[in-house]
Amino acid sequence: NEYLNAIDAQNAAINAYITLDKDKTLAEAAAADARLAQGNAHPLTGLPIAFKDIFCQTGWRTACASKMLDNFIAPYTATVVQNVLNDGMVTLGRVNMDEFAMGSTNESSFYGATHNPFNVQHVAGGSSGGSAAAVAARLAPAAFGSDTGGSIRQPASHCGITGLKPTYGVVSRFGMIAYASSFDQAGPMAQTAEDCAILLNSMAGFDERDSTSLEREKEDYTRDLNQSLKGLKIGLPKEYFTPNNSADVQAALNNAIELLKQQGAEFLDISLPQTELSIPAYYVLASAEASTNLSRYDGVRYGHRASQFKDLEEMYGNSRAEGFGSEVKRRIMIGTYVLSHGYYDAYYLKAQKLRRLVANDFQAAFEKCDVILAPNAPTAAPKLGELNSDPVQAYLSDIYTIAVNLAGLPALSLPAGFSATGLPIGVQLIGNYFRESQILGVAHQMQ
Ligand code: GLN
Repeated sequence: NEYLNAIDAQNAAINAYITLDKDKTLAEAAAADARLAQGNAHPLTGLPIAFKDIFCQTGWRTACASKMLDNFIAPYTATVVQNVLNDGMVTLGRVNMDEFAMGSTNESSFYGATHNPFNVQHVAGGSSGGSAAAVAARLAPAAFGSDTGGSIRQPASHCGITGLKPTYGVVSRFGMIAYASSFDQAGPMAQTAEDCAILLNSMAGFDERDSTSLEREKEDYTRDLNQSLKGLKIGLPKEYFTPNNSADVQAALNNAIELLKQQGAEFLDISLPQTELSIPAYYVLASAEASTNLSRYDGVRYGHRASQFKDLEEMYGNSRAEGFGSEVKRRIMIGTYVLSHGYYDAYYLKAQKLRRLVANDFQAAFEKCDVILAPNAPTAAPKLGELNSDPVQAYLSDIYTIAVNLAGLPALSLPAGFSATGLPIGVQLIGNYFRESQILGVAHQMQ
């Protein structure tokens, strides 16, 4: 009730929640209370959480913030959502995002942009902007996001919260609406790294319904929270520390470096030479996968169907023309182009090769350092409308987050300061494969 009242009072200004169902929320809360009374509770029992609109959840509208799925009530629940519900967490509602998770500002949502709680004239970031804004405005203690090219870390950075993208394969993708399947990973977003570690303990695990889910032993992601940082080697990639970063972002990085040095960490310069090429590689591959994944929205089985058409072909065409927004259409066009006969070798195959080189860069770096410190974005949250008009500019703003997804590495964003205008700025910690507990520990020591 406390949270639902806060949402009533404040959501209109930031537009974080797009679907609420108080009866369902209170019924889940009552079940959690009963479980607590019986004494068989999990540490998460009764804690409320917000889910990004990308996660299917039985009985809830799961629209992926698209007109295409505005009428879609999910008939099953994503594994990661089911995992935390099994532990007794309570659904507060479904939060805003860029349409089909394509975007960096949340402005491509069918339900309108999320506004940054620190200054409503600025974006909350994207695509998990609703998740970040809900946590930042204390309209939820925690939320789920998804990160295909930075969509957990960048909005976490812009809203002053902590968010983790796990190693690819650590959390199940089953029931999370597919954007670019070889990149998509769900992750926790909360106030602190400790909260993220506790949430990841509940979310993670093998799932036979996701063919890329990894079969590994269960681990405790809180185990390194109190690990000393003495002698920890932290790499600073020279390609991420450039004059393109605003003075505010550089100051936040300097703060973080100072804090870590005080705790005995050592710094060294490293290089990730393919950084610049990760943008074209990502936008070729992610768009290619998106064009395939989104072919299922044909107006036949579920989702939006046009009311005017003269034959089947036109029904497909009109349904998709009406159901998808312009950014989604742009990605489908790019994706079908790079996959088409005659262009496949020139674009898609080349991007696949670049992907390998990007991953190799990181492995070379991790021979020298334990973790990597980096910015999440070149600036604090831009004003609404600033990036929306220029897609290429928006793609370029992903420069510091997407290489991690190409490589499949774990990374998190944690708050590190504020801009001169009072907007939060986060820094990014990147770990080697399966080192979630290590980067969570470093972040915890900084909080
Ligand atoms: N901005 C990137 C894109 O639009 C990342 C999105 C994401 O991580 N879901 O593809």
